[in-house]
Amino acid sequence: MAEENQKAGGKIPTVDPNKCIGCGLCVSTCPDVFELGDDSKSFVKDGSACAMPTGRQAKCNCQEAMDNCPAHAISWVEKK
Ligand code: SF4
Repeated sequence: MAEENQKAGGKIPTVDPNKCIGCGLCVSTCPDVFELGDDSKSFVKDGSACAMPTGRQAKCNCQEAMDNCPAHAISWVEKK
């Protein structure tokens, strides 16, 4: 657990719209973080809502969303 938090510490998820196929899986997994836009592509509406660095939102698991994305469109970026 501590290792997971360390891995994601200081990072937020990002979606590559060129890869996203709009399946909605990440939105189901982390509804506070991801949203489907008008173009049916996922985008990160609130990267700070990601639970991974803090563990404060049990319903969110961005690492799971990332691992399960069929298009490998989600990755971590450094939080600015
Ligand atoms: Fe797009 Fe991947 Fe999210 Fe599916 S899981 S909507 S392909 S970013």
